[in-house]
Amino acid sequence: MGIRLEHVNYIYSPDNAFRKQALRDVNLEIQDGEFIGLIGHTGSGKSTLIQHLNGLLRATSGQIYYNEQNIYDDKYRMIDLRSQVGLVFQYPEHQLFEMTVLKDVCYGPKNLGLDDDAAVERAKEALAMVGMTEKDYSKSPFELSGGQKRRVAIAGVLAMHPQVIVLDEPTAGLDPKGRNDILNQISALHRQTGITIILVSHSMEDVAKYVDRIIVMNRGEVFMDDTPKEIFRQSEALERVGLAAPQVTYVMRQLHKIFPELPEDVTTVEEA
Ligand code: ADP
Repeated sequence: MGIRLEHVNYIYSPDNAFRKQALRDVNLEIQDGEFIGLIGHTGSGKSTLIQHLNGLLRATSGQIYYNEQNIYDDKYRMIDLRSQVGLVFQYPEHQLFEMTVLKDVCYGPKNLGLDDDAAVERAKEALAMVGMTEKDYSKSPFELSGGQKRRVAIAGVLAMHPQVIVLDEPTAGLDPKGRNDILNQISALHRQTGITIILVSHSMEDVAKYVDRIIVMNRGEVFMDDTPKEIFRQSEALERVGLAAPQVTYVMRQLHKIFPELPEDVTTVEEA
């Protein structure tokens, strides 16, 4: 069981001058329990792709199956898909709005129709999964560090008990320690729960250490789909699509520390 995409194409603004084909004939199979890194240059189609996985965007053509059911079938309940495939957007902490951490994480389960006690139970369980403790429950989300806020936002999605969780650039804007903490936490989550995790990143280094499989996107197409080891063997092909192997990223980061005028990351240049 899992997610299957067959010949998925997606075109933004198909009928005017801003027409942009963002996905081209994407074929993918994601099995339950996989830990996948989805990487690619800025503009390669990663965000567009993940928004198809929980039905936020509808393919211009092609089919998507979730647990063997066609999500575009008239009888399919999109609402089920939304609760089973949790999407954590970039900078999810911008969506924290309740007075306390605990209330914030309860918001999703309450929306699912759970009563207060059940929602609190789910929220506590989800907060523990991301390493937040009881003393954080009554804090305002605004008192927390960047990394903690992000963990609370992830807990908000986990509290919905999704089978799949998709995290869009979960390390964006965090310092090196924050990045490591969050990635370790996500990795622990995968080990403990066995849920499917799709980690979106433009950085090889972020995904390299953690995932079992890497999908590389380029100009809306699946360019590579293999184990990290196999992907990194093909460093020339990676460089062709604007991605540096982890060693290169590491060297760039060290150089940036000494010469701040140099870019920290060679993969963040906008695609023309
Ligand atoms: P990534 O997540 O890899 O950076 P996106 O999926 O955001 O890539 O973008 C893929 C392509 O679609 C890019 O060329 C981008 O400019 C374009 N695009 C993204 N969102 C829109 C939109 N709302 N309208 C038009 N084009 C878009």
